[in-house]
Amino acid sequence: AAIREESIRRTKTVCTYCGVGCSFEVWTKERHLLKVEPAHGPANGVSTCVKGKFGWDYVNSGERLTTPLIREGERFRPASWEEALSLIARRLGKIRRKHGPDALSFIASSKCTNEEAWLMQKLARAVVGTNNVDNCSRYCQSPATMGLWRTVGYGGDSGSIRDLEQAGLVIGIGTNTAESHPVLATRVKRAHKLRGQRLIVADLREHEMARRADLFLRPNPGTDFVWLSAVARFILDEELEDRAFLGQWVNGLDEYRASLAPYSLNYAEAVTGIPADTLRQVAREIVQADGTCIMWAMGVTQQCGGSETSTAISNLLLITGNYMRPGAGSYPLRGHNNVQGASDMGAMPGFVGGYQPVDDPAVRAKFASRWGAELPANRGLDNHEMVDAIYAGTLKAMYLKGEDMGIVDSNANHVDGAFEQLEFFVVQDVFFTRTAQFADVVLPASPSLEKDGTFTNTERRIQRLYRALEPLGESRPDWQIIQGVANALGADWRYTHPSQIMDEIASLVPLYAGVTYERLEGFASLQWPVAPGGADTPLLFRDGFPFPDGKARLYPAQFIAPLEAPNAEYDLHFNNGRMLEHFHEGNMTFRSEGITAKVPGSFVEVSPELAAERGLTGGRFVRLVSRHGAVRVPVLVTDRVQGRQLYMPMNTPHAEQAVNRLTGSHTDLSTHTPAYKDTAVRMEVLPDM
Ligand code: SF4
Repeated sequence: AAIREESIRRTKTVCTYCGVGCSFEVWTKERHLLKVEPAHGPANGVSTCVKGKFGWDYVNSGERLTTPLIREGERFRPASWEEALSLIARRLGKIRRKHGPDALSFIASSKCTNEEAWLMQKLARAVVGTNNVDNCSRYCQSPATMGLWRTVGYGGDSGSIRDLEQAGLVIGIGTNTAESHPVLATRVKRAHKLRGQRLIVADLREHEMARRADLFLRPNPGTDFVWLSAVARFILDEELEDRAFLGQWVNGLDEYRASLAPYSLNYAEAVTGIPADTLRQVAREIVQADGTCIMWAMGVTQQCGGSETSTAISNLLLITGNYMRPGAGSYPLRGHNNVQGASDMGAMPGFVGGYQPVDDPAVRAKFASRWGAELPANRGLDNHEMVDAIYAGTLKAMYLKGEDMGIVDSNANHVDGAFEQLEFFVVQDVFFTRTAQFADVVLPASPSLEKDGTFTNTERRIQRLYRALEPLGESRPDWQIIQGVANALGADWRYTHPSQIMDEIASLVPLYAGVTYERLEGFASLQWPVAPGGADTPLLFRDGFPFPDGKARLYPAQFIAPLEAPNAEYDLHFNNGRMLEHFHEGNMTFRSEGITAKVPGSFVEVSPELAAERGLTGGRFVRLVSRHGAVRVPVLVTDRVQGRQLYMPMNTPHAEQAVNRLTGSHTDLSTHTPAYKDTAVRMEVLPDM
């Protein structure tokens, strides 16, 4: 028994899937994964969901990339690291010399560590000289961050996940929390069941949380802004606002009140379909609750007005005094494990680490003195603008890591066309993804179990992950690969461990100033902002808001109606999102046997009434056709969806079945986050086979 025990390694890690940031001990014997055990993680306690428990087999998949690949005509051949890096340096260097640094672009990954996101933006800025760098928060949470910057100054959850249990009322808007953030949802379910916490859910689908809710609102697609504004106006009209909080902590009430003038309850009922009486009840529940938390996700943000609706949420919390205490505040639920961290690290075109603007000379001077390189002053291109710039012929090269952009960006056929026009394309990933098919060089990266580093979860909690397995074949951790590319381009980086990268981050990013690997040892964690050597910040707003006068700002936002409403030709609203068992595009979970055994493929949810109208039964294949493309998919008849609304998970093992074959190119107007949820389709019933 002792020998058996000695051959088993237990390594602390952090889940590589959603933004809840569950941490575990993973038990391994050589490359065998014996089990994953929650061990009192700071975000999850002893809980886990099906992905954290069974979603790890992909690390031993026979489909892993184990050597660099170089394109030769229509094929790829294995190459040495030396040859691949030297080719990358030669081609990127040539394009830079001929067209300037802004002809190059870099995309960091929200699946990778903070240290790796940091190096990607440093490579772009300090080595190449461009701010053309972004990450996948552009696809999901940028509008939430915008809404919070406008109003309360920091883009992050205002409290801890565990604080949700203290709220008198939790409102979930456009979040399928039980499937997208399962362990976080457990806290809400528990408080609702055991403590009598009230729960209001607003969504197009009657998913699990909607069925549990005390009040379920089903607004017309894309109209959350309207009902939120009507509730806010009703509260102000009835003088139910928190005057003491507003007087002490908030600016801009008069202008905000004026902006709400159009949003009467009757107008809201006409636009959203939610009865005025129900909205009165929502308002009363908020003002009577002992603390209200609002959680929201992609049902809000992936709309043309995603930033406006996120702003409306924060405004509503401000007028009701729901900030600056546990059990109250905003919870924009981050999708990926490290979407918060990748943005914190400055993998964004307008900000270096810690949201310090690139157009601020003092910021650039600080980084220049540490990095020994001038930083470009002009804002760079975001993901969406990069695609446009490729078509315009001004962007020639892209270095993309850990993002299957050809499936996850909207209007995938349009994105494919852009990839084909790139002069040089480097893709770095764990698998030969759909996007890799367009690459000139493919670099094999290591997944989270094969590297050290840190992730930052949705509640701003920074946690360490430790290497449990050696990199497979010749794959390498992303930070080592980026360092190799930087040095091939002439840099002289000498990081030997990610802790040195974190030391550099702490020296340049005030939010992470007090973060060290020693303070994050084992299951320890810190929530930013972290003062040097001092305390971290579980409750984000304790002594006011990060504006010069310490006061938050009510921001008059505006309603932006959906751009792609159904019409006679495309008569159905097409909604899409996550499902419990799979994650994102599915590259990891569809290669995990424990998961695929449960859910092997994709489907489209059709309401019983629409199924009856079209003569459909479950399993029958249909062809969905939008203005942008078509997919063939089996039907699942369910009353989770209603009427002429469809829902399809974004996770699929088949690229030709990806939801983004259907979505278009329009975006949130402020952040360019694709309006994935704003799509109309028609449904053609295929012959029975
Ligand atoms: Fe936790 Fe999310 Fe991972 Fe599930 S997917 S174990 S909820 S971090």
